[in-house]
Amino acid sequence: MKNWKKTSLLTTVIILTLLVCLIYLFKISVSIPSSDIEFSPGETNSQVGAEYKGVKPKNIIVFIVDGMGFGHLSLAIQTQQMENSTSVWQEFDIKGWHDARSAYGPLTDSEASGTAMATGTSTNFGHIGIDQDQKPLKNLLEVASENGYTTGIVTDSYVWDGTPAAFSVHIRNEDDARSIMTQMAESDLDLLFGELEDLGEDDIPEKEESLEILSQRFQLLDKNLKLPEGDKASTPVAAIFKEDEVQDLNSIPNLTQLTETALNYMTSKDSPFVLFVESEEMDAASHENDSQRVLKGLKSIQQTLAQVLNFSKTNGETLVLFTADHETGGLAAVANWDEYPNMQIRWSTKNHTAAVVPLFAQGPGAEYFSKVQRNWEIGFCLKNLIRQESTQLIQE
Ligand SMILES: [Zn+2]
Repeated sequence: MKNWKKTSLLTTVIILTLLVCLIYLFKISVSIPSSDIEFSPGETNSQVGAEYKGVKPKNIIVFIVDGMGFGHLSLAIQTQQMENSTSVWQEFDIKGWHDARSAYGPLTDSEASGTAMATGTSTNFGHIGIDQDQKPLKNLLEVASENGYTTGIVTDSYVWDGTPAAFSVHIRNEDDARSIMTQMAESDLDLLFGELEDLGEDDIPEKEESLEILSQRFQLLDKNLKLPEGDKASTPVAAIFKEDEVQDLNSIPNLTQLTETALNYMTSKDSPFVLFVESEEMDAASHENDSQRVLKGLKSIQQTLAQVLNFSKTNGETLVLFTADHETGGLAAVANWDEYPNMQIRWSTKNHTAAVVPLFAQGPGAEYFSKVQRNWEIGFCLKNLIRQESTQLIQE
């Protein structure tokens, strides 16, 4: 009886061990062996020169679409062609891409990628304006403020979202909305347009407290976006909206109107400016695989981009940089031959992918971004453009 028990126990252990081995082997067989991926060592292989020899732009507009990959771009270009309208995407002089990976590997999130583009240093998931050792990194808007620029943030998402936060604050916890808004109120930021969401949940204060924090620096504007005049014209301003109040072209106001007001504010001052514009619609829609919301969001992005490019052309001294922080959804525009040339949208995931993303530039300084390969090089070039003592400034 004793021997029978021992044999039974041994058999159970052997079966369990085999089962664990099988699960382990199965997992390996369905994932890519890490030895097949050439991981980048980090900020040591840049082909972007430290010295910029070209024309220095007076103003810079950075337009980031959260979650937009080449699939979303293809859809935008194809639908514009079907509507016989001119493709805004073809107006850029420089058309390229960048690899948005985080310091941790091929995937990233808005916090890590936004920080890389804002500061010029690659970092990890959830890190906002800080490096891998949690040390603060100076961002583009801080460098611009130090050099006498007017600075602003416009987003169709909530103001403390990962991307706008990466361009303005330094924090490890992306859910600590109270601290993010407090840092924004203590910054040198001149303009902040965006939403609030998830009010009262966890570290997110209620509406009254959020507005109280922001009003310590900013004059809060009404929905009509009337800017202060006279003695108060140079006061920092904020326009704060409800969750999803700014979504597509039917929204009042929409992203195009917010950006137009921001440009009016920026140009009312004598100083040069850096304006950060974000649309979060591609990420929000793609996490839900919501094709209709993607199509509506693309129209809002295209109209706002057309307005920004038009401003750059008329103004003649403004660099426009358009890019994304990562791709979301693995979107593909495909065809069903029975319905050709109508297209269908297919999704491969509800998460972020490791796809490279578009990087377009137009205006003075655009050529500086033609060699960019990694997201952090964008931040490196932008900060360098501000700091550069260029003798080739456009004649006033
Ligand atoms: Zn996302």
